[in-house]
Amino acid sequence: PFDVLIVGGGPAGAAAGLYAARKGLRTGIVAERFGGQVNDTAAIENYPSVPETIGPKFAAALEQQVRAVGVQVLAGQKAKALEPTGDAAGLHALALESGATLRARTVILATGARWRNLGVPGEAQYRNRGVAYCPHCDGPLFKGRDVAVIGGGNSGVEAAIDLAGLARHVTLLEFAPSLKADAVLVERLRSLPNVTVHTEAQTLEVVGDGAVVTGLRWRDRASGAEHLLPLAGVFVQIGLVPNTEWLEGAVARNAFGEIVVDAKGETSRAGIFAAGDCTTVPYKQIVIAAGEGAKAALAAFDALIRQPVR
Ligand code: FAD
Repeated sequence: PFDVLIVGGGPAGAAAGLYAARKGLRTGIVAERFGGQVNDTAAIENYPSVPETIGPKFAAALEQQVRAVGVQVLAGQKAKALEPTGDAAGLHALALESGATLRARTVILATGARWRNLGVPGEAQYRNRGVAYCPHCDGPLFKGRDVAVIGGGNSGVEAAIDLAGLARHVTLLEFAPSLKADAVLVERLRSLPNVTVHTEAQTLEVVGDGAVVTGLRWRDRASGAEHLLPLAGVFVQIGLVPNTEWLEGAVARNAFGEIVVDAKGETSRAGIFAAGDCTTVPYKQIVIAAGEGAKAALAAFDALIRQPVR
């Protein structure tokens, strides 16, 4: 059995693997796609000590580093169920889609999350070429230009306020008749001179010139009128979904499906830890996921040295 079995090979899982292996623990990583969301990132410019890199390069370096310290990487493998052990010194069982079952004294869940897509024409085509999901990551790329934010919940309104400080103009489109964000945020948004808000606005299409985004086509659901908004960027903020559906009944999750963790990354089950975008820890970023992964591995080590000697 593994001392530490990690599910997920993004920044959180990789950092956990690095820390666990360097403690001399028998460590494995099961990852459907090593690198995780980082693979889909065009430019990374906010990781300390790395002024600029591209996602696939960052992901390849993560994998190389964990393999070099002796982590057993099971790439291309998807976990389908976790059966926690009943007793603190026992083994947890992780079932894979392949039919295999892996056993481990501690488990770290680092399965990340996925952005909910609009599902309109042009969105996939112009992803990373004007269509963006993370204002902290990509906001500076649109300095002085016109952008739209889709979604009027807390994350959409926060994104619009954030972007209003960088972009020339921000248009926020919300499908429902009113914004769902907290009143203080809506008040702040309404006070900004370079923001326009449209409610009952249905996004129809992301328009581009073949290379980059040039506009957004939307329909006013009240009047039925269609509009074409010229712009350089579209930030989709309609939800981040944690990859935790398969953990039903195994560990406690909140209303959004995020795994509930304490300050050490421990879940509701002894010996099972979680880190990164799949957890309740706020602000989903690479540097945060990596830090949380390191923390979860150190907490797993702490738990292991406290297990009864057998
Ligand atoms: P993820 O990166 O999501 O990795 C999850 C891992 O779990 C993957 O290996 C996946 O294959 C695996 N997995 C999931 N389910 C299973 C399963 N059932 N069985 C086995 N494996 C499974 N952040 C920044 O800090 N800077 C940026 O510039 C930046 N740009 C971004 C651009 C885009 C387009 C996107 C989508 C995100 C961006 N982010 C950026 C956010 C950042 O990528 C995430 O916060 C970070 O990758 C989270 O790391 P993670 O390890 O928690 O999860």
